[in-house]
Amino acid sequence: MWRSLEARDRARQGYAIPVRSLSMEIEFDEDTCIGMYQCVAEWGDGFEKDKDAGKAILVDGEESADGVFVREVPEGAELDAKFAARTCPVDAITIYDDDGEQLIP
Ligand code: SF4
Repeated sequence: MWRSLEARDRARQGYAIPVRSLSMEIEFDEDTCIGMYQCVAEWGDGFEKDKDAGKAILVDGEESADGVFVREVPEGAELDAKFAARTCPVDAITIYDDDGEQLIP
């Protein structure tokens, strides 16, 4: 079903319909993290191990509050980021959509 007659006509005429890429944000709570590193296994470009501290590190994360780090999930890494959040046993990772709505957990 076409969203609008205009979209249908444009598609029939061979015009590309622009698709907005939606951004996703990830938040990591270092205090909650217990260093199990499933997040590293799921998203190796997004998380690193800090074995001395027994915590994960959110790569390129900016500290938004004490011990809380955030960053935008790069395009193409959305699935890995979601898996990292789902696999965390203590819910130290939260995923938000571009409206700021919490998706996981
Ligand atoms: S999976 Fe969760 S508890 Fe384990 S290292 Fe990652 S953030 Fe920390």
